Amino acid sequence: MKQRLPVRTELDKRGVDLHSVRCPMCDEDLETAEHTLINCKFAKDVWNRVYKWWNINSVSAHTLSNAFKENCILGTSKSGKYIWQALKWTCGYLLWKNRNSREFKGDSWTVPLAVNEIQIMSFDWIARRIKGDWMKLWFYNGLIMHL
Ligand SMILES: [Zn+2]
Repeated sequence: MKQRLPVRTELDKRGVDLHSVRCPMCDEDLETAEHTLINCKFAKDVWNRVYKWWNINSVSAHTLSNAFKENCILGTSKSGKYIWQALKWTCGYLLWKNRNSREFKGDSWTVPLAVNEIQIMSFDWIARRIKGDWMKLWFYNGLIMHL
C-alpha cells in the first residue's frame, strides 16, 4: 500500500534497468503490487480457493486496501478477526514468495500447492500467537480438515 514492494514497476520508477515490467507470473499485465497480490490470474485463483476453504463467496477486491483491510467473516470475536487477518496476510506473503520463486528460480507452486502452503503456514503462525480458544475456533470452522 506504500509502494514499497519491489515489483517491477516500482523498481523501474526507481531507475533499475529491467528487461520487462510485465508480470513474471502471467506476462499479461504490468507488475504492480495490486496485480501480483490480487489481480494476477494466479493470485485470483489462490484467493478463490481460500474463500472456498472458508466457505464464503469470493470477494472481488481489486485494491490492496480492500483485500487486506480488517473485515471479519467469523463474527465479531477477537479471535475470529485475528485469524482472518492473519490468514489474509499469510496469503499475501506466500503470493509474494511464490512470485519470487518464479522470478529467481524459474519455478513456482501450482494453485493447490500454494493454498496448501497457506493453510500450513497460517495455522502455524496463528497457533504460535493466539491465546485462548483458537483451536476450538479453528476446528469449529472446519479449517483444519485440509491439513
Ligand atoms: Zn500476473
